[in-house]
Amino acid sequence: KWRDILSEINENVTDVSYRTWFAPLVPLEVDEDAKVFYVASSNDFAIGILKTRYISIFEQAVESVFRKKYKVVIKEKTEEEIENFLKGSSGKHTQIEEKKETEEEFREEYFLNPKYNFDNFVVGSNNNYAHAVALAVAESPAVVYNPLFIYGGSGLGKTHLMHAIGHYILEHNPSSKVLYVSSEMFTSELIKAIQDKKNYNSKMRAFKKKYRNVDVLLIDDIQFIEGKESTQAEFFHTFNALYEFEKQIVISSDRHPSKLTDLDERLRSRFQWNIIADIQPPDFETRVAILRNKAKQENVDVEDDDMLEVIDLIAEKVKFNIRELESALTRIISYSRIFNERITVKFARKNLNDIFSTSDFNITCETIKKTVCKKYNIKISDIESAKRKREFSHPRQIAMYLCRELTDSSLPKIGEYFGGRDHTTVLHAYEKISAELKTNSLMAEEIRRIKDDIQ
Ligand code: ADP
Ligand code: MG
Repeated sequence: KWRDILSEINENVTDVSYRTWFAPLVPLEVDEDAKVFYVASSNDFAIGILKTRYISIFEQAVESVFRKKYKVVIKEKTEEEIENFLKGSSGKHTQIEEKKETEEEFREEYFLNPKYNFDNFVVGSNNNYAHAVALAVAESPAVVYNPLFIYGGSGLGKTHLMHAIGHYILEHNPSSKVLYVSSEMFTSELIKAIQDKKNYNSKMRAFKKKYRNVDVLLIDDIQFIEGKESTQAEFFHTFNALYEFEKQIVISSDRHPSKLTDLDERLRSRFQWNIIADIQPPDFETRVAILRNKAKQENVDVEDDDMLEVIDLIAEKVKFNIRELESALTRIISYSRIFNERITVKFARKNLNDIFSTSDFNITCETIKKTVCKKYNIKISDIESAKRKREFSHPRQIAMYLCRELTDSSLPKIGEYFGGRDHTTVLHAYEKISAELKTNSLMAEEIRRIKDDIQ
């Protein structure tokens, strides 16, 4: 199975490599006669890397899952082709899956990503409540909060928290039966059982057994069953059975239950029987903490000044999705390893140009500071210092003025960028320069040039 292969690979390569090279691949088909396993990628660069560096790891993973040797062939396909393949022939996609399935169809399917645990979940004001209740549930399943409903936007850590609950419970009580499933998988298994006319009864029995004989059911992205009546009905019974036998249910969704409008009212109300915890987008500090944590995991020196700047830059730019936040960082790290270049702001900008695209080019205080220093030929440490000489204080005030004018940063935040100055100092600089600009056309011209450079 593809997921088994991926998780096998995941254990043998670094997280960065896994995400950069393997996660985007799509399995195409298995040629049993020629013993070839075909996968597709739309990125020829990635294909080159995979072929030269990772093919043996890949083939070993395939072998250990299928218990047979296959040659792995990576085909280049356009994104469109891949999409069509995934959409149109989901039949074909499952062909690979079905090869091994048959009688094993309902074997325990859950897969908990070892990287999603409580230890590496960064807690901030955006998620501390969800984290606290998730931990409480993990410590005492079915005792404190049942059901637990977690909701929040995409990429904010719902799946991570659910897996963390699963790991924790299994760690402390290895015999407990934990089942993690995406609602999509739940639905597709149900459909398979329903469609199998010949074995309908046994299939349905197996399905029910699988979902009702657990101690903990973690069901992800429940919004997926909106509008799907038979899935909802089946899930309703599953829910009731588990609840009645005091089994823990954890549900995640991209919305509050009351916003799941295309859902059976009975389910909607059950979801609200106990705790509902939301996860909000992380604030700047939490984003930085997440990135630093991630960088550390990747063995990157996070005390390095350039790295700190890059982290700030990414944290300023990617605000609403931790998955994207992390992938910007992993990309930079893996590119720096491939190209054997140091990670600097310039390198990051160049390689994350899709994120820093000119259309919504986001000017940061960092850029302003640097540009101003260059213009006046002084050092960053000078502009951040307490030196009062005009050759330093003038550029400093101009830089503060520009930060105030060109970014959304608050006065205290700007102060931090300039050696931890008080917000009143920043305000004073801003007002002073604004006033001067009105009468001093030379200075207006000077500032206009700096702005050009910045942009
Ligand atoms: P969701 O399920 O809400 O779409 P995920 O749980 O898949 O989001 O999280 C997306 C990525 O962000 C994952 O790699 C996850 O490890 C990471 N992530 C999310 N929240 C945190 C956090 N608080 N600390 C560390 N990593 C996080
Ligand atoms: Mg998720």
